[in-house]
Amino acid sequence: MKIKWKRLKNIASVIVKRNVEINLTTDDSMKGYNALVEYNGDSVLVFLNGNNCKSLDMVIDALAHELSHVVTGDQQDSNRHKKAWDSLKEKIKEEYHKV
Ligand SMILES: [Zn+2]
Repeated sequence: MKIKWKRLKNIASVIVKRNVEINLTTDDSMKGYNALVEYNGDSVLVFLNGNNCKSLDMVIDALAHELSHVVTGDQQDSNRHKKAWDSLKEKIKEEYHKV
């Protein structure tokens, strides 16, 4: 399956208004996680677990989940986070499939 990573990176960067790097990894530290995020005021690093994220849908789902932590500032998987996650998923899909 071909994923347009550059496009995802650009969409993500617009959403969080800072540079986003997407790293696909199979490191053992990712065990038990689909994705993790590290961020500060300047940049956002998203780590996707390559063992789990194997389709475009899963990649977008995991990316949106992590970006939702960034935009809400909520580190918990709260209801507020879930709401933002759902709307980011739609937004990313829409932008991704735009011609
Ligand atoms: Zn989370």
